[in-house]
Amino acid sequence: MRPDVRLDGLPLRPELVGEEPYGAPQLEVPVRLNVNENPYPPSAQVRDEICAALSASTLNRYPDREATALRTALAGYLGHGLTADRIWAANGSNEVMTHLLQAFGGPGRTLLSFTPTYSMYPEYARDTHTRYVTMPRSADFHLDAATVLAAIAEHTPDVVVITTPNNPTGTTTSVDVIAEVLAGTETIVVVDEAYQEFARHPERTALALLDQYGNLVVSRTMSKAFALAGARVGYLAAAPAIVDACRVVRLPYHLSAQTQAIAEVALRHAAELLEKVDELRATRDGMLLRLPQLGVEVIDSDANFCLFGPFADRHDVWQRLLRRGVLVRETGPDGWLRVTAGTPAETQAFYDALAEVLEEIR
Ligand SMILES: *Cc1c(COP(=O)(O)O)cnc(C)c1O
Repeated sequence: MRPDVRLDGLPLRPELVGEEPYGAPQLEVPVRLNVNENPYPPSAQVRDEICAALSASTLNRYPDREATALRTALAGYLGHGLTADRIWAANGSNEVMTHLLQAFGGPGRTLLSFTPTYSMYPEYARDTHTRYVTMPRSADFHLDAATVLAAIAEHTPDVVVITTPNNPTGTTTSVDVIAEVLAGTETIVVVDEAYQEFARHPERTALALLDQYGNLVVSRTMSKAFALAGARVGYLAAAPAIVDACRVVRLPYHLSAQTQAIAEVALRHAAELLEKVDELRATRDGMLLRLPQLGVEVIDSDANFCLFGPFADRHDVWQRLLRRGVLVRETGPDGWLRVTAGTPAETQAFYDALAEVLEEIR
């Protein structure tokens, strides 16, 4: 084979032919509101403590494979009587989801989700050879138990994922609906609560159902509310047996000692790191009011982002915003765009740019 062989000249797995790497554009623009990051970095004091923990961490020895100290701290953060044996942690919730599908998905097996939803699920499914099927949400992007149970009856999935607050719509599925689903199925149900801390009622969480249902998995991340996207830490809470299944499939030493150390310091300072969540929630609520005033529809959101539109040509709007230094996300239903709640200055820059764009395209 020639050294300048191209991707389409390689004996790729057939399902990978023509695939592009995951790609929210990472562009160097002044106002980046495209991937739902928390715009406030941890304080200098927390960063100093992280540096100290890193410098004390072990480099020449393998890390704790079980990440016991971190899982204990995560259990403490979540509450609900959870203990380390009911928590699993990995490099971002995308690795947590991959572990779940390696354990419960795979060839001949099916993952079911409810669209529009997170664009990574089909990739986790593809990479674990799991069939991916979707059912639509209602017109206002909600989900009821009858819809979920009917979809389970139709597709007999091995894993179901319910995202609440859902990305990219921001809509929630109540704990009552999830309880009704769990009462009606033995299928593994993953509730992806990546944005739970931003919800108007973060205490209304599927964690409350864990004592009742062994097939429930609640997935969380430190990437969003905790402002730790750069460190890559996601985790789940579930029955100890589900954690054991993840332990079987994970690569040995998957979570570096340094990642564990950073996350442990962050959890010791949870109150401070989560301090800006209230402000971001208020910014989100402000967007829900401001966007209609500017003349666009917005979907009621419980997350740190909003879906707005519809536009005849959303790519054109995306491009015009980008030209003004504002990066939003082209995702979700046709015609809609998603914007993350930023700092007051970033959010104002977005409003100003959008007002100009709407004037231009009128
Ligand atoms: C951002 C996000 C995550 C978190 O992903 P990480 O890999 O932990 O950064 C998980 N689920 C949804 C729906 C998300 O939007």
